[in-house]
Amino acid sequence: MEHLNQLPVPALHRFERLPDGFTDTPVEKIGTILPGPSLIWIDGEPGPPLFVSILLHGNETTGFDAMQQLLAAYGAPHRPLPRPVLLFVGNVAAAGRGLRTLDGQADYNRIWHDERYPEHRLAREVLAEVAKAAPLAAIDLHNNTGKNPHYGCVNRLDDATLSLARRFSRTIVWFTEPHEVISIALSRICPSVTLECGVSGNAAGTSHVENYLRHCLELPAETLFTPPPNHLSDLFHTTARIIVREGVRVEFETCMEETELCLREDLETLNFERVPEGATLGSYRDTETPLVVIDNEERDVTSRYLDFSGQRIITKLPVVPSMFTRDVRVIMQDCLGYIMEPYEVKGKV
Ligand SMILES: [Zn+2]
Repeated sequence: MEHLNQLPVPALHRFERLPDGFTDTPVEKIGTILPGPSLIWIDGEPGPPLFVSILLHGNETTGFDAMQQLLAAYGAPHRPLPRPVLLFVGNVAAAGRGLRTLDGQADYNRIWHDERYPEHRLAREVLAEVAKAAPLAAIDLHNNTGKNPHYGCVNRLDDATLSLARRFSRTIVWFTEPHEVISIALSRICPSVTLECGVSGNAAGTSHVENYLRHCLELPAETLFTPPPNHLSDLFHTTARIIVREGVRVEFETCMEETELCLREDLETLNFERVPEGATLGSYRDTETPLVVIDNEERDVTSRYLDFSGQRIITKLPVVPSMFTRDVRVIMQDCLGYIMEPYEVKGKV
């Protein structure tokens, strides 16, 4: 999809200390503290910093809330943290409006590879600064809109990365696509995870993330990167994503006559469940099939996964979906969801 970029090219703002007011400004007013995408150094005891990124998607606020609580509890910036934090606050403009991205912007978690959009320059500058800071680990915080467990995503399967994810959740997703995300770029610098922290604004989710970040600041590196004693985990590999054809009108369950794609009401409850072959995902109206399944090599693998006979959409294989959502804006901006398969790493967490 082409982005028109009518908006000004975002500049990276650098802060040598946490700006006053950061910990008690509501997210929709964050623009009064930060003029745009910002990289903030927050002092800590000597040693490599922890890199944390928040609000790459402006409406995913758990990371922001958790950082506010954590920094306030430590008395930052007046008292040093147990280790320094290099904090990247991404899409400040979209956060002010409670949106994932603004129209005309590139998606801030799809700008970390390639050179197509003005936002790629911002990404390049951030990565150069992060490489210079040589962080211990990198944590990118997100929410999703559907019903999903809290889970950590990894892009590599080494012990340090898996341990970092396992300390957040037993559920771990390994993905290599989309490859333009920040965590893949950061995984070339240090152990790097993306944390999916449930839905935005949930207090339990916020304190889970706050506690996790506290561990990352307080645990010795060798502990952080060693699989915890209770080392069982459910590891899934993302193999494909499901997208809705452009221009298709999507609704759930009770659909209008003119709706092209009518999905089942409880679609979200299938996330992280083993869905058997023959399960109905919804129905459709036109002759053209409304869903496309794309694998990690960008091949159209729709016919491998989905059957469209009798205007119904039926799974052809057992699948484990994730990120199925009822949020039509997210569906059209990103995708309907992902297809995963259970994955075994011998001897790993
Ligand atoms: Zn996100």
